[in-house]
Amino acid sequence: MYIIQDERVFRYSFRNHPFSSEKARKATQILVSEGIVKPIRAMEYPEDILYLFHDRNYVEFVKEKSKEGRGYIDYGDTPAYPGIHEDALWVVRATLTAIDSTLENGDVSINLNGGLHHAGRDHASGFCVYNDAAIGIRYLLEKGIKPVLYVDIDAHHGDGVFYGFIDNRDVYIIDYHEDPRTLFPGTGYEYETGEGEAKGTKRNVVREMFSMEIDRGEFDQFIAGKNFRFILMQIGADGLAGDPLTHLRYSIDSYRKIIKRVHTISRDMCEGRLVLLGGGGYSLQNAVEAYTSAIKGLSQ
Ligand SMILES: [Zn+2]
Repeated sequence: MYIIQDERVFRYSFRNHPFSSEKARKATQILVSEGIVKPIRAMEYPEDILYLFHDRNYVEFVKEKSKEGRGYIDYGDTPAYPGIHEDALWVVRATLTAIDSTLENGDVSINLNGGLHHAGRDHASGFCVYNDAAIGIRYLLEKGIKPVLYVDIDAHHGDGVFYGFIDNRDVYIIDYHEDPRTLFPGTGYEYETGEGEAKGTKRNVVREMFSMEIDRGEFDQFIAGKNFRFILMQIGADGLAGDPLTHLRYSIDSYRKIIKRVHTISRDMCEGRLVLLGGGGYSLQNAVEAYTSAIKGLSQ
């Protein structure tokens, strides 16, 4: 397995704010030092990769805010700081590097500071400036690698990815999250299954407050009879018991289990092509433990 270990990528982080890259940096360090994963650096893809998903006007806006270095990029969750455009771009580069690494090696590649699933085509949201997961999916589709499966177990609905591909039948999505009535961003109901020719390619799995289990068989149900050529998984750890921002109580066991299951399927179905992205996780200790223990579990 390969993992992005690169300070340019970990620079995407906010001060005096819940979102910090510290969990990604720490977990990466532990996994590398224990020899579980091989460290790789992000490759310097051109800035154009942003336009695989984002509008030009939006990128120009972020660049301006990045020069100004103050205020917010959205309506109050995602602050601007000097250089945020460059830092967010490095996160995207890291995810594309992970994808290319997996295509080359047929093995899991990981970007723990990625998984910025809330950013939309023309807006930032929920601590996410550029949507590395959505750009990664587009990158695969452009290479002709499809269908792609995107699995998201972050406590929050991955709205940027979900609605970004709502009418695209080459992109299958299963997204587990806390009930939209009790948690940001307030979207992701079970009746939403894709639009137009893409009907049936999307699945929202809603978990009530205090739920302890992530998957109750929905994953196997969803993939039955389908075939994917690549799997991207966002493994945000903010649904684990003890997280200060959400109301879920997932056990570490349930977290490890679903990641392991997706890994097994990636081997059976698409030659081990699996990329893991980080995400939320607002108790540092919890997130580091969740990331390291789930990833170690894949090598056993
Ligand atoms: Zn989250």
